[in-house]
Amino acid sequence: NISERLARIAAHVPQGARMADIGSDHAYLPLYLAQKGQIASAVAGELNEGPFRGAERNVRSRGYSDRITVRKGNGLAVIEPGEVDVITVAGMGGGTIREILSAGEEKLAGVQRLVLSPQGDSEGLRRWLGEHGWQILDEEMLVEDEKMYEIVVAERGEMAVDDRNAMEFGPILLAQKHPLIADRVDYELGKIRLALEGLEKAKGDSGEQRRQELLARRQQLEEVK
Ligand code: SAM
Repeated sequence: NISERLARIAAHVPQGARMADIGSDHAYLPLYLAQKGQIASAVAGELNEGPFRGAERNVRSRGYSDRITVRKGNGLAVIEPGEVDVITVAGMGGGTIREILSAGEEKLAGVQRLVLSPQGDSEGLRRWLGEHGWQILDEEMLVEDEKMYEIVVAERGEMAVDDRNAMEFGPILLAQKHPLIADRVDYELGKIRLALEGLEKAKGDSGEQRRQELLARRQQLEEVK
């Protein structure tokens, strides 16, 4: 059985897609999609030998070698331009996902949809998308095993990146007033409270600029609630 997180990612892969799952680990996501008959084909890309071998073994033993090709390589190096229409990248930091997309931008030419699940720095990833001709059309946030996960679905289009709250919390999640956003805001507000208390104790004038920054950030966060 597949995790709720991977099942939610899978839900954003259109029927009949030719997909690449980058950093596929055990190839669970492409296997799940192939078993459901949801994809025409998949490339499972893996940088590291251990996961690559594991993915190969899983695909072969379950009899999906005709549909899923397991390839070893860094990021988008495992695909040819025009080979896939959907790319999934999940379970890596937002910075790593951004680097993978940047390094392989010429491979994105025929790609219609990105389904990304960054762990940390989703803000930087959203900004990258907006600055490189991608628009976020759907998002999800979920908690599994006490961890929070975000899913960002993007297609070609225009997206403004100047709204800090939208970039940090997700334009769709924000518009939906997703219930988990309040938890994230409370967490951030808690950090600001501690930092302000720390400045108060230190009492130097040199802390004034930092204090103003924290107050501005607090006000920005209050607007989200
Ligand atoms: N995508 C799966 C998921 O979400 O369950 C696996 C996530 S696992 C935490 C991250 C995987 O990405 C590891 O198997 C790692 O070897 C692989 N990886 C990390 N950097 C990579 C890169 N630049 N290119 C391809 N694979 C990479």
